[in-house]
Amino acid sequence: MSTIAAIATPSGKGGMAVIRISGDKAISIAKKVFVPFNRNIDSMKGYEACYGNIFNEEKKLDDGVLLIFKAPHSYTGEDVVEISCHGGELVSKEVLQSCINAGAIPAGRGEFTKRALLNGKLSLTQAEAVIDVINAEGKQFLQTANEQKSGALFKTTEKITDELLAISAQISAWIDYPDEDTPPVDMNFIQSQLKKINAELDKLLKSYETGKLMRDGIDCAIVGKPNAGKSTLMNLLSGYEKSIVTDIEGTTRDIVEEVVVICGIVLRLADCAGIRQTDDIVEQIGVKKMKEKLKNSQLAIAVFDSSREISQDDIELIKSLKDKNCIAVVNKVDLPLKIDMSIIKQGFSRVVMISAKNNHNVDEFIASVKQAVEIDNLDPSAGFIANERQRACVILAKQRVESALNAAVSDVSVDILGIEIQSAIEHLMSLSGKNISDEIINQVFERFCVGK
Ligand code: GDP
Repeated sequence: MSTIAAIATPSGKGGMAVIRISGDKAISIAKKVFVPFNRNIDSMKGYEACYGNIFNEEKKLDDGVLLIFKAPHSYTGEDVVEISCHGGELVSKEVLQSCINAGAIPAGRGEFTKRALLNGKLSLTQAEAVIDVINAEGKQFLQTANEQKSGALFKTTEKITDELLAISAQISAWIDYPDEDTPPVDMNFIQSQLKKINAELDKLLKSYETGKLMRDGIDCAIVGKPNAGKSTLMNLLSGYEKSIVTDIEGTTRDIVEEVVVICGIVLRLADCAGIRQTDDIVEQIGVKKMKEKLKNSQLAIAVFDSSREISQDDIELIKSLKDKNCIAVVNKVDLPLKIDMSIIKQGFSRVVMISAKNNHNVDEFIASVKQAVEIDNLDPSAGFIANERQRACVILAKQRVESALNAAVSDVSVDILGIEIQSAIEHLMSLSGKNISDEIINQVFERFCVGK
């Protein structure tokens, strides 16, 4: 296989840049490009570093550090050399060019990780998790992606596959040696196992939605009548002023949006300040946009002013949120309570009392958000379905398990049961990257950056 090279650090100016080389010729290429001070590259073992000068043929480009990993103890499983130089765009490009002049070819997107997969260093689901670790914005998703990279989903899939294999082995033994002393197939046992497996696959499918929320963030629409404290809440969450905090009603005409990371969770907040009846044409456009935003949001945060009696607008708001995943935030609890809490409690299953101005009880609000979107239900160590490819494999495996279950209860031939289970096993193997086409592998790595 060819030896590849790429700049592994992002483009732009920085403290340093890393040029990564992987393949049989990595060390011989490094010897042409890098001249250590008082060292000989040939004498270096794996995981060793040295300092020296970097050249393009005769021309010195920079000084830097060379780090060697020897096959198979490297990210790709091949010989890998990493050259760290100063983090200028030109200098890093020149170092890469020098590696290419010395015999490397430019790496494609995700080619280092692809080689790691092909050399058995990672399963496909672990390789896919690398991109999630790189892209993670919230701490909670980072932790989940890291568990996934360590093989959380792979282990869960292997466990389910093993359970299916055990059933398959029982069926095969019975089909292959019906006349011998093979015990008859225990249909009750098989049915209960298939039901358990079906539930496990269901749980995995559910993890797709939660994983998506963790990765992409939760779309939250903040609604409530003017002066309830929506902007103040939003500003508190964002940590800086963006909305206009004012006592004048109806100042915010359009949607103010903010992405905030709170307690490791990404919230996409939209301040839908003025959902109400209006004759003003400009305001009507804003109201329409806000209604759409509210409809598409995964969570509505309805803010009420606890220091005022409940108004008709509040009642209308409560009615309009009847079928929405929602949290009622009763704000301004630092002031004397005038709102009728029984109406609020009747309208919402989740109610949090806060003072946005005084930063009081915001932790409880965040805990409530987590519960409302069921993010806490995701067990990072069990892994999660991270993309459409993985989801399609689980859906197909589940369809086959359900067919097997039907076959098991309706007394059709054991052979058919065996075929369905075998097919479910194959879909789960595709999930982990066993028995999949080059085309799918290529599609997975197209999402990666060059140098990873
Ligand atoms: P919005 O129209 O719903 O966005 O309301 P604002 O965030 O602009 O707040 C309206 C007024 O209520 C401002 O004067 C805020 O300072 C005030 N306010 C907001 N939250 C609180 C709170 O928790 N306690 C008190 N006493 N005042 C608050």
